[in-house]
Amino acid sequence: MKKKGIGFNIQMVVLFAVFIFTTCWQSGEKQSKTTGKTPFNFVILFADDMGYGDLGVYGHPTIRTPRLDKMASEGQKWTNFYVGASVCTPSRAALLTGRLPVRNGMTSRINRVLFPDSKNGLPTEEVTLAEQLKKAGYATACVGKWHLGSKEQYLPTNNGFDYYYGIPYSNDMDNVADLEAIGGYLKFWTSEERRDIHSFNVPLMRNTEVIERPANQHTITKRYTDETIKFINEHQNNPFFVYLAYNLPHVPLFASEKFEGTSPRGLYGDVVEEIDYLVGRVLDTLQSMGLAENTIVVFTSDNGPWLIMNQEGGSAGLLRNGKGSTWEGGMREPCIFWSPGNIPPGIVTGIGTTMDLYTTFSTLAGVPVPDDRVVDGIDLSETLFRNAPSPRNEMFYYRGDWLYAVRVGDYKAHFITQEAYQPEVTRHDPPLLYNINVDPSEKYDVSAGHPEIIKRINDVVRKHNEKLIKGADMLKDREVFGTN
Ligand code: MG
Repeated sequence: MKKKGIGFNIQMVVLFAVFIFTTCWQSGEKQSKTTGKTPFNFVILFADDMGYGDLGVYGHPTIRTPRLDKMASEGQKWTNFYVGASVCTPSRAALLTGRLPVRNGMTSRINRVLFPDSKNGLPTEEVTLAEQLKKAGYATACVGKWHLGSKEQYLPTNNGFDYYYGIPYSNDMDNVADLEAIGGYLKFWTSEERRDIHSFNVPLMRNTEVIERPANQHTITKRYTDETIKFINEHQNNPFFVYLAYNLPHVPLFASEKFEGTSPRGLYGDVVEEIDYLVGRVLDTLQSMGLAENTIVVFTSDNGPWLIMNQEGGSAGLLRNGKGSTWEGGMREPCIFWSPGNIPPGIVTGIGTTMDLYTTFSTLAGVPVPDDRVVDGIDLSETLFRNAPSPRNEMFYYRGDWLYAVRVGDYKAHFITQEAYQPEVTRHDPPLLYNINVDPSEKYDVSAGHPEIIKRINDVVRKHNEKLIKGADMLKDREVFGTN
């Protein structure tokens, strides 16, 4: 009898253990695939022209970013994370469509970005991440810089977003009458003129209406945060997606009174430190509402630092060059994923891109990516949730519709090089070759010793070109400046 009793107890313990294991596994499944009642919310925090080296956690010595540093220590810090292009419009198109901009025409060798007088915008056939998530019943908001077309049919509310609040293009883009001022202000304007919001007559919009002009850029970052928190508050009982695209630290730089003059790095530091503080407010909101464990937040930037702006531009740290170029400094960005309890803390040195957010978030929401076109995004969820090696091994660096460089694994081959804002183009045959992990600053060309790697990269390019259908150039036509 005694023996039988012990056997029964062991059986119970085993059954209990199986029950606990199964419950935990199912709960893990539910979290990772979100097929049940708890789909993830998604918040993308997208800085403008912030460089790889502009955050404390990415090595900046005097810009203080305690909230982003903490977000990185609680989440995943990616050190090889890329954008789809080195300037605003194509980079944003890549993030929101999961596709290289060359495929949808949101890149051009004539106008590198859209302007307020541009005739076109993101083609309606494109399926944005917001449109994807709408299929799963998400509430969607775009707050901040849009820059995918400012005519009504191209605005966020016609691209899957329920709500829009923001400046529809860059914060230095004046109205059509003053377009000549674009780009000239650094050379010709005094610092006081650059500090005056009236010098940049940009509109602030709510949905499709202009509600303020010029937008008060001193308070714009704070107001973007307030709008985001309000939206989260209103939609806390349903799945939501917020795309908060800051207009800063793109030049001209504006900080609020509380931050102006406080950073040892000067005005650029003031602006980044204010963004850091306000990122903290978003994270605190999610935590205080009990939403943090059910939300994935990602912080990154649209392209590298605008180096021609001298001290008003940011820093790519140890990476070469910056915004506008296909060197690493133009397209590799700080990137932090945060979702307490779901994304284990760590540093990921594998490759990721903003296009992968499209595929990862669509998949997590249970929405298949479109199968009638090439989607460049890859699902990163195994890396996010289980620290698996990144499934991405390739990265294509386009400038306009020309392929300048390709990374395969550790190696990057430059077939064409060009300074960020210079017209001279240099072609390389054989290509320049750098081991990006050993030599992230792209200083030491090792092409002579590695013909087999060049051959391997050439094969990847050939395969890529076989599937490539270039979209019609959506950026070239302008009302005032005409078609070049
Ligand atoms: Mg930018």
